[in-house]
Amino acid sequence: MILETLTRCPVCQSAQFDDFLKVKDHTVSQAEFQIVACGVCGFKFTNPRPPAEEIGQYYESAEYISHHDEARDLMSTIYNKVRDHTTQQKINLLDRAVEKKDNLLDVGSGAGFFLSQAKAAGWQVTGTEPNSQARDIGQNRVGEDIYETIEDSFFANKKYDAITMWHVLEHVHRLNETLAWLHEHLAPKGKLFIAVPNPESDDAQAFKENWAAYDVPRHLYHFSKKSMQQLAKKHGFLVQEILPMWFDAYYVGLLSTRYQSGKTSLPQSVWRGTASNWKGRKSADGSPNTSSLIYVLGKT
Ligand SMILES: [Zn+2]
Repeated sequence: MILETLTRCPVCQSAQFDDFLKVKDHTVSQAEFQIVACGVCGFKFTNPRPPAEEIGQYYESAEYISHHDEARDLMSTIYNKVRDHTTQQKINLLDRAVEKKDNLLDVGSGAGFFLSQAKAAGWQVTGTEPNSQARDIGQNRVGEDIYETIEDSFFANKKYDAITMWHVLEHVHRLNETLAWLHEHLAPKGKLFIAVPNPESDDAQAFKENWAAYDVPRHLYHFSKKSMQQLAKKHGFLVQEILPMWFDAYYVGLLSTRYQSGKTSLPQSVWRGTASNWKGRKSADGSPNTSSLIYVLGKT
């Protein structure tokens, strides 16, 4: 495969990058990928990266867990329990943050767990999901049409009160085009919710190249708070709130300890996750700094 090399920083357009970290794809290809950091704004991204037309093969793994719902092993069982709990928390957040509770678009809706729970909570829901298998499962679960991409003509002239991207933006090739699309399709007082891993969290710094949430080459970007704020501003958004995600440190810890030592260590994962959450409960700027973060964006 011929990888695609970005010559400009997707956030600030600078052409000056420094090597940051070489990370192995532990899930599918076992190949190594380079993460670079922009010399001007510090934005970290996987470069070079598989092109959009070919990245599908890096998702072909029985273990690619977010598309599956059978509890096959310890990790999947924990993952499923946590998912049900965190899904409800996400819906509570939407209910609190969005003034007009009407229609909701979930970009990258996976197997549809979030959308089906949101629908039950009274939202009028729509989703997009590029993986056809997940899309079919999601469509059955939710009972609404799920589209392959946001580029579908269905979305022309549609505006949403809430748009959610739960661990999705880091997978999107056309980053700036996507943010422009989101701005166009968010209602004037709507809210955009973006959850992404946090490479400045304590667990990221502890596990370094073994930190599972680098998840190269599927994760194309590794957003810091500063980068997210800069990207938001560039597209007419303001980051209004940054919220912690407490369970990600444990899940990421389970995978990361396995990548580091070759076997899963529950005690070590629990210890690392707890340490990361404790340190990440509040950072110097007053916002959390946990393993993953939820950004709530509004229009400026
Ligand atoms: Zn930059």
